[in-house]
Amino acid sequence: MSDKPDKFIDDNGLRLDGRRVDEIRPMKIDIGVLSRADGSCYLEWGKNKVLAAVYGPRTLHPRRKQIPDAALIRYRYNMASFSVEDRIRPGPSRRSVEISKVSAEAFEPVVLTKFYPNTVIDIFTEIIQADAGTRTAAINAASIALADAGIPMKGLVSACAVGKVDGQLVLDLNKDEDNFGAADLPVAMTQDGEITLIQMDGNLTQEEFKEAIEMVRAGCMEILEIQKKALYTKFGDDSSFDLTEEDLSDIQADEQLIDEDADNPANEDDEGIDEPEDIDPDEKKINEEEELDGESDEQ
Ligand code: UDP
Repeated sequence: MSDKPDKFIDDNGLRLDGRRVDEIRPMKIDIGVLSRADGSCYLEWGKNKVLAAVYGPRTLHPRRKQIPDAALIRYRYNMASFSVEDRIRPGPSRRSVEISKVSAEAFEPVVLTKFYPNTVIDIFTEIIQADAGTRTAAINAASIALADAGIPMKGLVSACAVGKVDGQLVLDLNKDEDNFGAADLPVAMTQDGEITLIQMDGNLTQEEFKEAIEMVRAGCMEILEIQKKALYTKFGDDSSFDLTEEDLSDIQADEQLIDEDADNPANEDDEGIDEPEDIDPDEKKINEEEELDGESDEQ
């Protein structure tokens, strides 16, 4: 680990990497980089390098894990052993399990899971190179991969962290600021500014906290524009990613219909798309093996 710098912000108000306190690192997004995934994204953010792949919706096995009126969002955050200075032991860790759980929850308010009962939407995120802010980088990449997979969503999710160094709030911490700073507050939000993930390390006063939320909101909105621009560039600038009030009320009406359908006793025997014939023999074998292993499907 590098030594703690004497100062994080110089006399001109610039950080060690030359950024202003409210400036995010440069972000680059490539869409559809993996041919076997339904949707994928490669994202670079400063020195972070992240891959996201989305598969599904597909029938969830084992069946006991199915949600009868919604798709399950399964999210895996993984850091490659070589992504950090000190090699990471491969396999799930307490940290990666926690990040996977909260990241899945960050997408639940936007993905229209009710349209796909008994299925799973798998989101895999792999950190290839880490330099702080990897959970937020992974969420930004996953959001694009979901859109690339054509998963219906109320909007994109954008994520960024804010923290505190030298007694000042700074947006989008780099590694030194993350390691030696006084606070780290990663946040994910919808395009309407609804917070879907918030975590915090360290301490902030109430005033600082309020200011930090405003700062990170501006950061997320800037990232949202970068995400949208990447999607427009790939799929054409037809504004179809911007849901109107009318679109949202149509979605609500559809969701209500699905709820009413589920509540109707006449539909009790309807088991949706979960017919045994639908199971891909390879997938069935994998699922049976997983069951035998006693492995958790959460990862
Ligand atoms: N890190 C590391 N080893 C680990 C976990 C993290 O070297 O086992 C580094 C990595 O560069 C990461 C940074 O510390 O990006 C900050 O980690 P944190 O847990 O705050 O998550 P992040 O900010 O990446 O979401």
